Amino acid sequence: MGKVTGFKEFERKDESYTAVEERVGHYKEFTVPLSEAEITTQGSRCMDCGIPFCHSGCPLGNLIPDFNHMVHQGEWQKASWILHSTNNFPEFTGRLCPAPCEKACVLGIINDPISIENIEKNIVERAFQEGWIKPQPPKNRTGKTIAVVGSGPAGLAAAQQLNRAGHTVTVFERDNAIGGLLRYGIPNFKLEKEIIDRRIAILEAEGITFKVNTNVGVNYSIEDLKVFDAIVLCGGATERRGLPTPGADADGVVQAMDFLTQQTKVVWGEKIENQVLATGKDVIVIGGGDTGSDCVGTSNRHGAKSVTNFEIMPKPPVGRSESTPWPFWPLQLKTSSSHKEGCERNWLINTKEFIKDANGKLTALKTVNVEWKMVPGQRPELIEIEGSEKIWPCDLALLALGFTGPEKNLAEQLGLETDFRSNYKANNYQTNVPNIFTAGDMRRGQSLIVWAISEGREAAREVDLFLMGTTNLPTKEGGDLPPL
Ligand SMILES: Cc1cc2nc3c(=O)[nH]c(=O)nc-3n(C[C@H](O)[C@H](O)[C@H](O)COP(=O)(O)OP(=O)(O)OC[C@H]3O[C@@H](n4cnc5c(N)ncnc54)[C@H](O)[C@@H]3O)c2cc1C
Ligand code: SF4
Repeated sequence: MGKVTGFKEFERKDESYTAVEERVGHYKEFTVPLSEAEITTQGSRCMDCGIPFCHSGCPLGNLIPDFNHMVHQGEWQKASWILHSTNNFPEFTGRLCPAPCEKACVLGIINDPISIENIEKNIVERAFQEGWIKPQPPKNRTGKTIAVVGSGPAGLAAAQQLNRAGHTVTVFERDNAIGGLLRYGIPNFKLEKEIIDRRIAILEAEGITFKVNTNVGVNYSIEDLKVFDAIVLCGGATERRGLPTPGADADGVVQAMDFLTQQTKVVWGEKIENQVLATGKDVIVIGGGDTGSDCVGTSNRHGAKSVTNFEIMPKPPVGRSESTPWPFWPLQLKTSSSHKEGCERNWLINTKEFIKDANGKLTALKTVNVEWKMVPGQRPELIEIEGSEKIWPCDLALLALGFTGPEKNLAEQLGLETDFRSNYKANNYQTNVPNIFTAGDMRRGQSLIVWAISEGREAAREVDLFLMGTTNLPTKEGGDLPPL
């Protein structure tokens, strides 16, 4: 374990952020790392619990007490080896995961939990710095070919696992760069894109082929896809939810993903004709989740006149609600670094109309306050509060309402079953067509990076088993650690 009395002696310490005025002037990451000594101390707080609930909180089954212990001992290379044995890409989860492991940490019952996510980030960054993360091409090739459709975290994890098992893997991506939502959803100030490229270089050196600008079923035929011995569909859940409200066609009502993607491309050096800019505008972001928060951060970097956020649900409690006690994922108010950069947040509010001028330009939003009527056994009912209508001046309304599910195109062309949410149906990641598998948001609906990596790994194991009749790829329930 860390240090026997570490959890009593030391308080939790987190990374800090650079000042708001400084960071809204650029699109780079803005965390201020802890020193090596501080991180080692954080590792020493871990109690090496007899039943480490952190494990069960983590969808990857990360071996958390083990790497905490190694960090405490200053054994960074061993820590990296343990971390990579369950997680292909800790540099993504170490930056972006909401850390369900920390919410399940036993120390969290009486004190601040172990800073697991930050320890993870420090391990992987140290490993890259020291050159410990090297390509691990397979010793032998099986002669089997695999197509992975979609290069988000699910596709990348599946590809790396299958390549390591000796199969010849090609990843198809319709965008002009690899990474899925890591590339064109999540803004640079949360994940600089060089971090993705650094990992892709390793994957390429291991022997994986990447084909960008290749939209399977559109400019790459299904017939060509069927030539592969197995196919893993990791196309995400990219069907955006709209807001069917009068005036929604106004010039100035924009989907969040268009807004975010354009800015990421501009940071990357692309020229975007008529980029949607928040500069000098009254911006209203509709939707209070991660995507909404990313729009708030981007709008402030553009130099918006004002940024307001609407959420139709009630404001969650600041601490854990009684309905979600430890070790459950807490229903709790989340205030992101973007919210802290300047934003007025409003809950229990519904948009009734987008008001536009004679030229069709958005000028204001009409809203009404709402409440939710909860009757046990019935669906919650939305009730509008009479007389609460309000007009909000607005030049740019960003729709950050999530995604309704995966696109149907591939399912239709490949004859695959989907469920009532249009998620691709699978049994152990295998669809109704035996050599076609699916993982990540495409299978489970809109979710998290950590789940996408976990599903990619698990699906890879099923594919290997299907092709070879046996597999050495690990599951999150356990398996041999790869060689150090
Ligand atoms: C704005 C935003 C912020 C987020 N922030 C966080 C966060 O902070 N933390 C977190 O854990 N999660 C976050 N998420 C969720 C997370 O990004 C997703 O859950 C995760 O990326 C899903 O991974 P995936 O591999 O299943 O799919 P995706 O990342 O969606 O990748 C799917 C890829 O498949 C490609 N594709 C689809 N169809 C085809 C085809 N026919 N041919 C070729 N390519 C195809 C798509 O272009 C896409 O690149 C965020 C999501 C958004 C939108
Ligand atoms: S639950 Fe918390 S204290 Fe216990 S082993 Fe896991 S990280 Fe360490």
